Amino acid sequence: MRSEKRGFVDREIRDAEIRVGVSSCLLGEPVRYDGGHKHDRYLTDVLGSHFSFVAVCPEVEVGMGTPREPLRLVRDGDAIRMVGVDSGDDHTERMRKYAARRVVELETLGLSGYLLKKGSPSCGMERVRAYTARGSAAASDRGLFAAELMRRLPLLPVEEEGCLDDATVRENFIERVFAYKRVADLFSGRWTTGELVAFHTREKMLVCAHAPTAEKELGRIVAGAGRAARGAVAQSYTSVFMAALGKPATTRRNVNVLQHMLGHFRDVLEPAPRRALASIIEDYRNALVPLVVPITLLRHYVDLHSVGYLAHQTYLEPHPKELMLRNHV
Ligand code: SF4
Repeated sequence: MRSEKRGFVDREIRDAEIRVGVSSCLLGEPVRYDGGHKHDRYLTDVLGSHFSFVAVCPEVEVGMGTPREPLRLVRDGDAIRMVGVDSGDDHTERMRKYAARRVVELETLGLSGYLLKKGSPSCGMERVRAYTARGSAAASDRGLFAAELMRRLPLLPVEEEGCLDDATVRENFIERVFAYKRVADLFSGRWTTGELVAFHTREKMLVCAHAPTAEKELGRIVAGAGRAARGAVAQSYTSVFMAALGKPATTRRNVNVLQHMLGHFRDVLEPAPRRALASIIEDYRNALVPLVVPITLLRHYVDLHSVGYLAHQTYLEPHPKELMLRNHV
């Protein structure tokens, strides 16, 4: 019954191919400088059922081979260079040219997210060790490939594999991957203002859990959509939407959203089950139960009483429940 009532959202999430770029070594491919890998089991065994991975090893693809001399970043004033640790050979320009070309190719694949290998002078997203020409520590930087990826695709959800160990960051990253896919799908076709209004209505509660002020800003973009250039509307809506979801959904904001949803039951639920729901929301506020508990109960009542507006809220299932991401936040 639930999938019939909430079928639109469910099918949209589950049936579409969601492509996520990944540093090849995280998938177990033996591409590291020493011929090894950094296989991340969560990636292949859990996320692999929901995402299609596009594996990229910049160092192999640029032609360095495996095994190869390890590389490091060397800071030269404001400039950052990529050099061989022993030989000092400079690979900066070669890597930059490759990265510019490869990222354009990746853009055409319609990626919805990217997971990078931490600490790599090519793939590291942040805090990659850098050195002075003499070999002492210098201010850290971003790997060269990662820098080009994030420069060219600034709205794409990108994280390092270490984020998967932190339940909150993991949930946020995966939520953003699914969200990016939804918003990209909306604007990839000949969308109408009505479709944008419907999209915004479905995403409202989810955005409110992250950034209530952004929800208002998105509302203004939607309200003016009929009078503005289509490209500008798509660009500004996507950019505010993704920036909003990038802000952590706090307990307080989740409680606000849950209580707002509870308000929709005023005329359909008896006082006793309403009190039970309110009490579970308080338990969540006090960290006695994870978010999945009030959400599950809410969904149960939404289905039971066919509360139309809530039934289509992405907030109730922003990613497949099999991933169990809200069991730990
Ligand atoms: S970190 Fe990046 S460049 Fe290094 S082995 Fe993994 S995929 Fe290749």
